[in-house]
Amino acid sequence: MLSQIIAENVKSLLKDIPEGVVVLAAAKTRTLKEVEAVIQAGVSHIGYNYVQEAQPIIQAIGDQATWHMIGHLQSNKAKTAAENFDLIETVDSWKLVQALERECARLNKTMPVLIEVNSGREANKSGALPEEVEALAERIDSLAHLRLEGLMTMGPAFGDPEDSRPFFRTTHGIYTRLQSSGLTNARLRWLSMGMSNSYRVAIEEGANIVRIGTRLFEPRRKDT
Ligand SMILES: *Cc1c(COP(=O)(O)O)cnc(C)c1O
Repeated sequence: MLSQIIAENVKSLLKDIPEGVVVLAAAKTRTLKEVEAVIQAGVSHIGYNYVQEAQPIIQAIGDQATWHMIGHLQSNKAKTAAENFDLIETVDSWKLVQALERECARLNKTMPVLIEVNSGREANKSGALPEEVEALAERIDSLAHLRLEGLMTMGPAFGDPEDSRPFFRTTHGIYTRLQSSGLTNARLRWLSMGMSNSYRVAIEEGANIVRIGTRLFEPRRKDT
């Protein structure tokens, strides 16, 4: 049964995760039952890439889990995102920051946010460029309804997770600089990096949120 596979996947993954590191289930395309199974098995942070896909699941499950937005967010979706998510990992522009601030003010809610860093400087990827992060952080810091809590990065996709290491290291470096940059309202504590094939390297480079999809939701192949 699927829920049994998920329970076994969670168990074997959690053995591999040091204390203090949060496993977030990347739940895109998964059914309500699969998401319920992963929560049942002990994963309480769930990430979605699309607001519309997340909304019915969040409404069905509610506060048994902490809901993270991990996909690119357009400012015209800021309202639904603000209403549904507990944390937005993919803030990357002033336009989006302003839209989220407006919606969170309306909801009288303070939203924890991470800045997504385009650590690979990829032209087709979202995220702020490394040199843009500090200015964006300062602007977020001046707002009443957003609280900067850290950074997120994807990095370029590689077969060999070692190839991801420099991008994780770059992002950790930006994180460390932000910690000594004199932000007053920020509460820097999250570094979200690493996926099914790269979470070990990410943790070695300082990640304390790892975003895992395949390894939680799919039957293990013999060679993994
Ligand atoms: C799908 C996804 C993941 C997880 O990827 P897997 O390789 O399936 O573990 C992590 N982060 C984001 C932003 C994703 O979209």
